[in-house]
Amino acid sequence: MRVPPEPSSLMEIPMNLFDKDGRLDLSRRLFLRSTGGGLLGSGLGLIGPAFAQGGGGSMPGLPPSRPTGRPFPEMEQETPVEPGRRLGWAVVGLGKFALNQILPSFGESRCSKLVALVSGNRQKAEQVASRYGVDTRDLYDYQTFDRIADNPEVDVVYVILPNALHAEYTVRAFKAGKHVFCEKPMAVTVEECETMISAGREAGRKLMVAYRAQFEPHNVEAIRKVRDGEIGALRLVTSDHGRILDPKDPADQWRMVKSLAGGGSRYDIGIYSLQAARYLTGEEPVEAFGQIANTKDDPRFREVEDRVAFQLRFPSGAVANLSSSYSTASVKRIQAFGEKGSIILDPATEYEGNKLALQTEKGRQEVKVKVKEQSQFAAEMDHFSQSVMNNHDPKTPGEEGLRDILIMQAIYQSACEGRPVSMEATGSTR
Ligand code: NDP
Repeated sequence: MRVPPEPSSLMEIPMNLFDKDGRLDLSRRLFLRSTGGGLLGSGLGLIGPAFAQGGGGSMPGLPPSRPTGRPFPEMEQETPVEPGRRLGWAVVGLGKFALNQILPSFGESRCSKLVALVSGNRQKAEQVASRYGVDTRDLYDYQTFDRIADNPEVDVVYVILPNALHAEYTVRAFKAGKHVFCEKPMAVTVEECETMISAGREAGRKLMVAYRAQFEPHNVEAIRKVRDGEIGALRLVTSDHGRILDPKDPADQWRMVKSLAGGGSRYDIGIYSLQAARYLTGEEPVEAFGQIANTKDDPRFREVEDRVAFQLRFPSGAVANLSSSYSTASVKRIQAFGEKGSIILDPATEYEGNKLALQTEKGRQEVKVKVKEQSQFAAEMDHFSQSVMNNHDPKTPGEEGLRDILIMQAIYQSACEGRPVSMEATGSTR
């Protein structure tokens, strides 16, 4: 059962990043480590040459193949675990996504329960705690966060902070002896991802990146159809994710600040297009080519990129044509084209209401997908709780997040250099 947010809307408690003069006020930044990658220059408007075979720059080798998408046991718990045995979760950052999607999803969870909250806003934390039955003794702020180590009720820390804070809170949570479930993108730089993975290993704790689309029934069914050969050999994937970045929305204000967001549309929503290409092909790209475009003089894109068009080439010969945008009307579409037909997911990555169609020589047919009572959010959280309980590797571990950031960085590099960047082929993992 999903518990809807209060009508008084907890989101109305503003966390405005602008000062009284309309300048970005970064005094609330807690962790502004240099983003390292630094390939995106302010106002960069590179339009590169057509995606060409070979002749590209190179990037360091990718980590070992990820487990994502390999034949995966249906671990989702159908029978709820009794409340006393459910894993206790602490949610860090009570923003738009946490308040409107994640906290209500604990009501549908079968083996995870909300036991603690971490927020910089005590008043908001107390309101949320009272709504979800969290004891006020289990409220933390960013300074007292490390005391979570002394709270035996907390098994898992769920990091839902601006992207550049993911690494710090993941590492601190591991130091506190907790398992970590981290929002996408995993972090801003490859180095941060590697630090997070090592911290988990050292602590003997698990790390999973919240790639909800891999738990969304229409996407899962699309992957199954491709694997079962229903559209023949897969040749091409296209995916577009776009929306209007709104400077008036507090949740979009940090997204305009490179030191908090890491990058623009690609880190935020382009990651869905990238993920789609990877989970549909079941392969890792061997070559990436990117083009970045910003609308001149648009203040939203002083620090982060607006539109990105990027192409990937896979070892099988399949190619992907992908995009992300912060200045076009909402689009969340994925298509897979094979020798015998195609699959259309449109919308593909909404929180609910996604649609799947199959196009073959017989015509186009809407595919009715059985949607479980559980949301994709409850499903991914329960999956992680079960991975911890049963000591299994989660479906989307840190290595999966790292791989996306590596590819992202290759796309930046390609856009800056105006030529394709080749990556070491690691072959199919599925
Ligand atoms: P919000 O701005 O709404 O929430 C972020 C929260 O982080 C804030 O409300 C605040 O919570 C806390 N925070 C701590 N320090 C800062 C800071 N310096 N600046 C701003 N906020 C700070 O963003 P979203 O909820 O939209 O996104 C949060 C994360 O979730 C991102 O990584 C995003 O990519 C991911 N996300 C994932 C989605 C998915 O579908 N998987 C969808 C949307 C977002 P408090 O006031 O409690 O301290």
